[in-house]
Amino acid sequence: SRAKLFDEKIDTKTSFKDVAGLEGAKEEIQEIVDFLKSPDKYTSLGGKIPKGALLVGPPGTGKTLLAKAVAGEAKVPFFSLSGSDFVEMFVGVGASRVRDLFKQAKEKSPSIIFIDEIDAIGRARGKNNFSGSNDERENTLNQLLTEMDGFGTNTNVIVLAATNRADVLDKALMRAGRFDRQIYVDLPDIRERKEIFEVHLRPIKRSNDLDVDFLARQTPGFSGADIANVCNEAALIAARQGKKEVTKQDFLDAVDRIIGGLEKKNKIIT
Ligand code: ATP
Repeated sequence: SRAKLFDEKIDTKTSFKDVAGLEGAKEEIQEIVDFLKSPDKYTSLGGKIPKGALLVGPPGTGKTLLAKAVAGEAKVPFFSLSGSDFVEMFVGVGASRVRDLFKQAKEKSPSIIFIDEIDAIGRARGKNNFSGSNDERENTLNQLLTEMDGFGTNTNVIVLAATNRADVLDKALMRAGRFDRQIYVDLPDIRERKEIFEVHLRPIKRSNDLDVDFLARQTPGFSGADIANVCNEAALIAARQGKKEVTKQDFLDAVDRIIGGLEKKNKIIT
């Protein structure tokens, strides 16, 4: 059976309300929602709608979430694929898959294409030549560049891509008419961590002793994904003990567990 290259979701319910903090990024990306909703307004004076934007920031900070929220806010289909799947799973057919993806997105336009981990296909060409699949990767990247250049000015497909390694990307990707906008998505500060906790505490039955400011103070360096994990883990810890609600201690235990996981991960990397 053929592996599925991309997911398409039309009825996405994700909105900016699901994205806590990231005020600057949301403000910048709102412009893309506006372009998708009323393209004619923007092209009426001869301007061209941008074709792509790059979301840059550390893992788990909400780049995928933000891209989904753009689709949800603009009520347009969301086509997504991950750069790493691509290179690993579709040897020999990367370029034709890119062609298919853009063809479908154009048919359903206005629409969004989201490419996660674009660095897996978008690394600078001619470098790191020790991997056997390098030609494959270059063909895929070249096809992506060709597709973006081939868009008419009013195709109304916007390509969002995410990376935590903007520094390794081929400069050709950032040229005018491609990913010429960069939006930074940083780790949350204490105030943003509080807001992210508030989002992820919504479905959790918790005891009255729980103080969200306290949780935000206990989690410096945590990403949004780490905070989502803490909330989920705390609920599981409490449930395992047969509790009727999640207590402050369950959250502290969950924070310890997540810190343990982060430390292990860092040890492997270094
Ligand atoms: P990666 O670089 O690892 O792909 P990412 O930046 O795309 O990560 P997401 O996949 O968007 O991160 O985040 C993972 C999950 O973490 C989200 O589905 C959400 O539950 C939570 N999360 C991350 N950031 C936020 C945020 N700002 N507000 C609310 N939830 C968040």
